[in-house]
Amino acid sequence: MPKYSSLTEAIDDNERAVCKVRGCHEPRSRISGFCLRHGQKNHSYGHPLARPIYRKDYAIERDECRAILSRNLEAGHPGVVYAVGLFDRWLEAKDFSQAISTVKRPSAALADHFTRLKASGVTGLDLLVEAASIWLFADRNQKRVDGHRHLTYTLGHKLCRAKAAPLPKPLKGKAMPFKGIITGPASRMVGEMVIKNLGVLLIAVCRKVQAQEAKHQETLLAMYEPLEV
Ligand SMILES: [Zn+2]
Repeated sequence: MPKYSSLTEAIDDNERAVCKVRGCHEPRSRISGFCLRHGQKNHSYGHPLARPIYRKDYAIERDECRAILSRNLEAGHPGVVYAVGLFDRWLEAKDFSQAISTVKRPSAALADHFTRLKASGVTGLDLLVEAASIWLFADRNQKRVDGHRHLTYTLGHKLCRAKAAPLPKPLKGKAMPFKGIITGPASRMVGEMVIKNLGVLLIAVCRKVQAQEAKHQETLLAMYEPLEV
């Protein structure tokens, strides 16, 4: 026999418990394990304690990844060529539904969004650089991007906001950023597609950056060697 005779009863019972986030004393919201605020963050960004990550936060990572990826695209690295081709297909709205055929709910809003990115001049390489730099940023800042789920959402969320032209200005106030249409589940879908198709390549890019850092560190250490008098 089910524990509750109705959904209302289940909600009433759940709402008597407190939010799962440590230190939060708000009641849970509906059937969620979180309060309204933490539940919304979890739904939109893949983590109840997600804080905004701005493009400037991973500017250094973007430069590092662009240098490696541009060089390898030029050299015809098969993984990089494949990844750029994949993102180029996403930017072609016609091919987008095909590109996401493995996903159950292809979203028309996402197809629109990628068309819009293309119209803003975003290329497949740009999207690959964005994905790799977020991955590298997450690797270096594990408190900012906490775990696989959070990374998945962050990848999708940031790719969906790569550099689209803003929406027309509303009557009052600032130009609206691209917001509202790309929901949490859409971010997750895009993030999952990136991880599934390109995860191995993105890890390889991170390793390459780390190897370069280690080499640089070695050079610096060599400079500390005692000098002859
Ligand atoms: Zn809470």
